[in-house]
Amino acid sequence: MPSYAYFQKKFIPLEEAKIGIMTNAFHYGSAIFEGIRGNWNDKQKQAYIFRLKEHYERLERGCKVLNITLPHSIDELCRITIELVAKCGFEEDVYIRPVAYKSSQALGVRLHDLEDDFFVFVIPWGPYLDVDKAKCGVSSWHRPEDNVIPPQIKAAGIYINNALAKTEAVGNGYDEAIMLAPDGHVSEGSGENIFLVMDGKLVTPATYNNILMGITRNTVIELAEKELGMETIHRAIDRSELYVADECFLTGTAAHVTPVSEIDRRKIGDGEIGEITAKLQEIYTRVIRGDHPKYMHWCTPVYKK
Ligand code: PMP
Repeated sequence: MPSYAYFQKKFIPLEEAKIGIMTNAFHYGSAIFEGIRGNWNDKQKQAYIFRLKEHYERLERGCKVLNITLPHSIDELCRITIELVAKCGFEEDVYIRPVAYKSSQALGVRLHDLEDDFFVFVIPWGPYLDVDKAKCGVSSWHRPEDNVIPPQIKAAGIYINNALAKTEAVGNGYDEAIMLAPDGHVSEGSGENIFLVMDGKLVTPATYNNILMGITRNTVIELAEKELGMETIHRAIDRSELYVADECFLTGTAAHVTPVSEIDRRKIGDGEIGEITAKLQEIYTRVIRGDHPKYMHWCTPVYKK
């Protein structure tokens, strides 16, 4: 099935969407991207885009930091994205990748006096961490401070940090890296936020622990409160607390809710999927596929019935 891109204000086949080798963003990572999921519901024969507007709001915040002017309003970006996904017509889970970037064919390390552009494309994409429970290793690579590269925005260039950590982790036999902040506190995975279950409460790193404010993180916090009556504590977490937590899981648009069975070769709990993790995973899966009536406001249907 052909895929399409919205590129230079037109819908075109994905393979025809090309940028020049002098594009500023390619050289310096001067781009803001998003990762959004369209989740296929086979019974309903419908695809639901999850929390579409919130993803574009985060993209817009990132653009503000990088001095990128978006060519469309958030509502227009949402409409374009729905039209694009519908045009592709996939009947499986998809991943939507919008990018706002410094598009000038011009070298020079700066954010000013450059043109901006925006594109978005869609590809079929199944599970990201393709394991039912992940083995993680604490990375020797730290998350940057906000005054180095702000971790709260999805700036393309910052992802070298994440890629170094991921490749180190896989090389060491793990599925995913857990990165610390420069002060030694736990920050996040290479593409996921992290949660611990301790004494019946969820514990997760706070904004000041150099994290990306994940939309899945926010979703899980709300679901834990409303569906399980569980409070989430946002605080600095020590590395050694990882080893003694009752349960641990990762959250992300690509990785969904992924249980963690092991960190640095120490079993988390009994090394199986934790009870609370399993409950949250089950609720989250129904919510993102449009199978939970209470949370349909987070799901945008793609296909007209
Ligand atoms: N942290 C990082 C570094 C990420 O790249 C992602 C994926 N966007 C996340 C956390 C999770 O964010 P979200 O739930 O919004 O996908």
